[in-house]
Amino acid sequence: MKNKVSIVKVNEFGIEAAVRKAIDLAGGLKKIITPSSQVLIKPNVCHPEPPGRGGVTDCRVTEAVTRIVQELGPNSVIIGEGSAAGYDWGGSHSTEEAFRVSGTADVARRLGVELRNLNIDRFEEVTVKNPYVMDKVRIAKTALESDVIIDIPVLKTHGRCLITLSLKNMKGVLSGAEKRKTHRLGLDKAIADLNSVVKVSFVVVDALTVREGLGEYPKNMVKLGLILAGADRVAVDTVGTCLMGFDPARIMHLQYFAERQGVKADLSQVEVVGESLEENKQSFSSSLETFKKRFPEVSVLEGMSTCTGCYGELLGALAAIKAHSDGNALNELTVVLGNPEPSEVKFTDRTVLLGKCPEKMADLGGTHIKGCPPMCDDIIRAICVISGVDADALIESRNQARQQSWEETRHLLE
Ligand code: SF4
Repeated sequence: MKNKVSIVKVNEFGIEAAVRKAIDLAGGLKKIITPSSQVLIKPNVCHPEPPGRGGVTDCRVTEAVTRIVQELGPNSVIIGEGSAAGYDWGGSHSTEEAFRVSGTADVARRLGVELRNLNIDRFEEVTVKNPYVMDKVRIAKTALESDVIIDIPVLKTHGRCLITLSLKNMKGVLSGAEKRKTHRLGLDKAIADLNSVVKVSFVVVDALTVREGLGEYPKNMVKLGLILAGADRVAVDTVGTCLMGFDPARIMHLQYFAERQGVKADLSQVEVVGESLEENKQSFSSSLETFKKRFPEVSVLEGMSTCTGCYGELLGALAAIKAHSDGNALNELTVVLGNPEPSEVKFTDRTVLLGKCPEKMADLGGTHIKGCPPMCDDIIRAICVISGVDADALIESRNQARQQSWEETRHLLE
């Protein structure tokens, strides 16, 4: 049987009515929530940002979902999140600040629900069976002790994963150190490992106002006015990915997780109910497309097999080189991703071939960087070599900036 995913448009009856309809169309919560249920509601409040701008889950969606859950009379309800702790994007992020600015703290107060900062939760180390990259993972006890988790991501593009939906949103239940580790190990595989030990019962996607491209406010904001819902994470993320106009086959963490579950992340496995997916489909620009515009000095050539693994590592590498060198290291650089035809590639001493996909062309010229995907620091080193930049100094400078950002929020994790 196909998994149902609903798409509902917000109309004159408002956001709560749309959330109720989306949940009902996707099968409802009555069979999931019982009087003994301990429910964790997990919005995406990864950094402090006001609601209605697409950066974090709109608190009105969180409020609607929480009300619906409360009406079913569970034993307990907690709204929980552990925000990004400033590691990736800098700044003084904190979960409490994110709860306050996003309006989530007001929702919890209004509804009499506990709000829990998962970054300072108790943690338990859980063993991942047949892991891709994380054999053990430290997870907030609140998530492990909840028998129902309702995942409320906001739909948007993402620099390292191409998109972020329900699977990526679960990173919030990791300890701060583990959040950091997932980037080092490879985010896509780590997300698949994490989701294989955290059981999500239902997903409601905030697709009211979302972000495309590099997710910058306000220029990358898109108003969709939609709510998606479903009980199956793979199905919901597949529909959400298609709604943005991307092919689910390119979303590595979704593909890895689906493979682990023995299912396919593709529309043939999903029954879309409510609004038509085709009629609401968008054509979002990816972070990379936006990035290309920001790095006009770099030519990026993509073949069909290009996926988020190489995308993500390249984005990190180019950003670090731009930020921590004199800016000339990227001039006239050509980066080859995936498997374009060799005839499409102009091989010079400033051509870089990324990863396993273009490996067969390695003999034709340029610099080949091994891996699937190659690691960010290996890409930095290769580009530094051909540009005459001291790679060790550049990486050290990048690490210091990261460490400073990390230190600013360390107190939240202790
Ligand atoms: S080398 Fe691996 S990570 Fe890179 S595009 Fe090919 S399949 Fe994806």
